[in-house]
Amino acid sequence: MVVKEEKTQMVHSPILTYFSMLSLLSLCPPFVILLWYTMVHADGSIYQTFDLFRQNGLQAFYDIWPKPSMTAWKIIFCYGAFEAALQLWLPGKRVEGPISPAGNRPVYKANGMAAYAVTLITYLSLWWFGILNPSIIYDHLGEIYSALIYGSFIFCILLYLKGHVAPSSTDSGSSGNAIIDFYWGMELYPRIGKNFDIKVFTNCRFGMMSWAVLALTYCIKQYETNGKASDSMLVNTALMLIYITKFFWWEAGYWNTMDIAHDRAGFYICWGCLVWVPSIYTSPGMYLVNHPVNLGIQLSLYILLAGILCIYVNYDCDRQRQEFRRTNGKCVVWGKAPSKITATYTTSSGETKTSLLLTSGWWGISRHFHYLPEILAAFFWTVPALFSHFLPYFYVVFLTILLFDRAKRDDDRCRSKYGKYWKLYCQKVPYRIIPGMY
Ligand code: NDP
Repeated sequence: MVVKEEKTQMVHSPILTYFSMLSLLSLCPPFVILLWYTMVHADGSIYQTFDLFRQNGLQAFYDIWPKPSMTAWKIIFCYGAFEAALQLWLPGKRVEGPISPAGNRPVYKANGMAAYAVTLITYLSLWWFGILNPSIIYDHLGEIYSALIYGSFIFCILLYLKGHVAPSSTDSGSSGNAIIDFYWGMELYPRIGKNFDIKVFTNCRFGMMSWAVLALTYCIKQYETNGKASDSMLVNTALMLIYITKFFWWEAGYWNTMDIAHDRAGFYICWGCLVWVPSIYTSPGMYLVNHPVNLGIQLSLYILLAGILCIYVNYDCDRQRQEFRRTNGKCVVWGKAPSKITATYTTSSGETKTSLLLTSGWWGISRHFHYLPEILAAFFWTVPALFSHFLPYFYVVFLTILLFDRAKRDDDRCRSKYGKYWKLYCQKVPYRIIPGMY
């Protein structure tokens, strides 16, 4: 077994690292329930929920935490099994992922866009033909989140055990600390059999897909309750669906990013995608269900266009980097030959390899410029809720903290991978995210 990169996982001091790991492990599950309760039963008002706790103390947790019902388990099981079947059996091009730190090259089947189309068409058809009313999902949302919290925790324990007893490749290993292994994961590319990639399932086909399914659910619930969907809800749903369509269009590119190529399958990534994405990422839409806002056509269009522009810029940044890497630098970036740094590094098995770092286009403005349009897009699909409550903006705030931390983690990892070449990149492109500021 190969133990690698553990030092780079701990980019903060050990005390801060353990403190943040234990805090996230213990605080994220109750937070999911609190957010759902506040959105659905407390008018989106943090004050109302706070008042409930002031009156009843911690007993309030016991009162509001829904039990995972049989209906909830059935919904999760049917959805998960359907997505797993699509992942396994829908046709798709063979795609090779990036070379791993241990020198392996994972192979995938690129059928994400097909799975996305089949999922949405099936879901809308079930509604249209009166077989399944999406309102049922909304009405059982608390029980579903509760079941997901427990089920995904067990799933992460199984991943931890699998990492110890039956790792799928040499990109696996223990740090020697059970909490770190559980939190950050043991395996980089865990699989069931040869073909069923667990991280593609958790991150893409369960997590990201559930975001699209829930965005539609919220819109349909509002339509069924009020006899129409408000323009604010339509803008929110449209922007989220455009963003997720972009994701599945580019899914094979996602397999080259940190989530898949660097972060191992543990609580951080897998629990995050199985629970945090369906609950927190979808929360602006959850809020809008019982807070319909009428924006008017003009304002709706402005917000929609601004959101689409941000999603496009974010997509173009990712596309530019990937096209540059795919063509080995022999492409055109903003009408010119790209400027670049040829960086060498050594893999954990001692081989010397070369990577190209793009230093022009979006990647010449700042080293993680693409995070800015990502954050702004989230702002634009939230702002239809206007400003009566803070809670719908929680995702934007969370995303900003996540991406600023991620930029630091990625910089630290790249510095230890590329050494002097990364230093040269930092001299050429001095800002991390916001040009001229940070
Ligand atoms: P990136 O696309 O930023 O990729 C980072 C990797 O790219 C680095 O580790 C390095 O890998 C390589 N790299 C860095 N600089 C350069 C350069 N100048 N030229 C070429 N390659 C470079 O990964 P992310 O996963 O952070 O982001 C991918 C997408 O996902 C983005 O659109 C982001 O906004 C989105 N995202 C969304 C999140 C959400 O929760 N909504 C969370 C995280 C990301 P190597 O080792 O190969 O050199």
